[in-house]
Amino acid sequence: MTDRKVRVRFAPSPTGPLHIGGVRTALYNFLFARHYGGDFILRIEDTDQARYVEGAEEYIMEALEWSGIKVDEGVREGGPHAPYRQSERKEIYRQYAMDLLDKGDAYYAFDAPEELEKLREDCEARGETFNYGCATRGKMLNSLTLSDKEVKQRTASGQQYVVRYRMPDNEDIYFTDIIRGDIVVNTSTLDDKVLFKSDGMPTYHLANIVDDHLMEISHVIRGEEWLPSLPLHVMLYRSFGWSAPLFAHLPLLLKPTGKGKLSKRDGDKMGFPVFPLYWPYGETATGYREEGYFPEAFVNMLALLGWNPGTEKEIFTMEELIEAFSIDRVGKSGSRFDPEKARWFNTRYFQMKSDEALAALFMPVVNEKGYNPSVEALVKAVSLVRERAGFVSDLWKETDFFFIAPEAYDQEVVKKRWNEDSPRIISELRTVVSGIEPLYSDNCERIVKEWISERGLSTGTVLNLFRLLIVGASRGPHLFDIVEWIGRDETLRRLDNGVKHLSQQP
Ligand code: GLU
Repeated sequence: MTDRKVRVRFAPSPTGPLHIGGVRTALYNFLFARHYGGDFILRIEDTDQARYVEGAEEYIMEALEWSGIKVDEGVREGGPHAPYRQSERKEIYRQYAMDLLDKGDAYYAFDAPEELEKLREDCEARGETFNYGCATRGKMLNSLTLSDKEVKQRTASGQQYVVRYRMPDNEDIYFTDIIRGDIVVNTSTLDDKVLFKSDGMPTYHLANIVDDHLMEISHVIRGEEWLPSLPLHVMLYRSFGWSAPLFAHLPLLLKPTGKGKLSKRDGDKMGFPVFPLYWPYGETATGYREEGYFPEAFVNMLALLGWNPGTEKEIFTMEELIEAFSIDRVGKSGSRFDPEKARWFNTRYFQMKSDEALAALFMPVVNEKGYNPSVEALVKAVSLVRERAGFVSDLWKETDFFFIAPEAYDQEVVKKRWNEDSPRIISELRTVVSGIEPLYSDNCERIVKEWISERGLSTGTVLNLFRLLIVGASRGPHLFDIVEWIGRDETLRRLDNGVKHLSQQP
């Protein structure tokens, strides 16, 4: 830890829908901030206009909101370091690029993109890679090889240029990552990255470091894919003379097979979403929200993909996550994504909800189907079937027969249960049911069973037949609970219809 106030940021680039790995990064930042009573900042890194995707920024904000990840400072929330969208901070970065140029830690480069491309290709043909760095910069078109006069002329005449960082030659730099430990990198292996372009736009590296400094970020918690940029970032802090934040690079989310990074294709292939919300543009994608996941379950699942609480406990509210979260317990190795486990989490949260809460979520589905039960009736129906479901969207197929009388009968069951005695048995059953008062489940069960035993019939045969006519199949909760729910008139009607229908069968 540091003595600085904890201030962390999630800094996505709006280049498409936010992957669940990104949501996990945001979540860990948020949990970390809350755990230490710090601030969580959302900064939109949109300096790469070529990769900008319309709708992505709103998507990011909506995804965080749905997940219950509350932003303290950001584009919508405002804050002492506004604006929080980098394209609106353009002017700020220029002066820092100039500062590095003045210090001699950066230089202008005028090499034409085609020239660089050609050099790259030539190197590739020889099986090498081209690096614009200490070994090559002396042979290129830049302010290190050109005279001051020429440089001035070129910049003044509006010639396109980039500002590159001048990576020192052959120096070991030491730094520490909270998750990875101590790292040493020799600067000769690093290239001179572009920091700023003549169109006035900074690149990711410059804007990111400047903003982290100006926004007083204490800890940078981000995906492992940024680890290779860390040496440059450390060097930039050194060049500016700023103290660097602490860094923690989170391991990747892996495919269910454990091999490689989890991708949209994995989700498409195996039928699970890799995005929090539905993505409506271009190549559309399903989301956890639309697939019926509870945000609490989604967040709980994500929290445990890489962080280990050190106990057997698996179900955490957001408050409990905040309390328990510690960056030291984030593992080094990638976490395999398990779609079954995601469903398991949702089922757990589903089962923790009250009948009333589930019925309230289910009511619109039932209304949509054209039925308007009372809240009380729906609560009862939900209470009878809930143990068979893990999602609100499972409830309709478990309860449809409460609302809809059978129109067809499961032929397997018919073959097994229906014979020429059946109409007579059902007719007697009809009389028995007509006389039961009140038609409560336990009362009905007792009287029907008494009649069965007085008549010397088989309980299995009669009750299965009864269920066949009420439900149309052998599924559903306790039969007498269904009878009580649908009521006497509907029960008798279903018995009559069933007999009529099945007696006509060839
Ligand atoms: N804009 C970068 C991204 O899209 C941010 C990386 C960082 O957190 O430094 O992930």
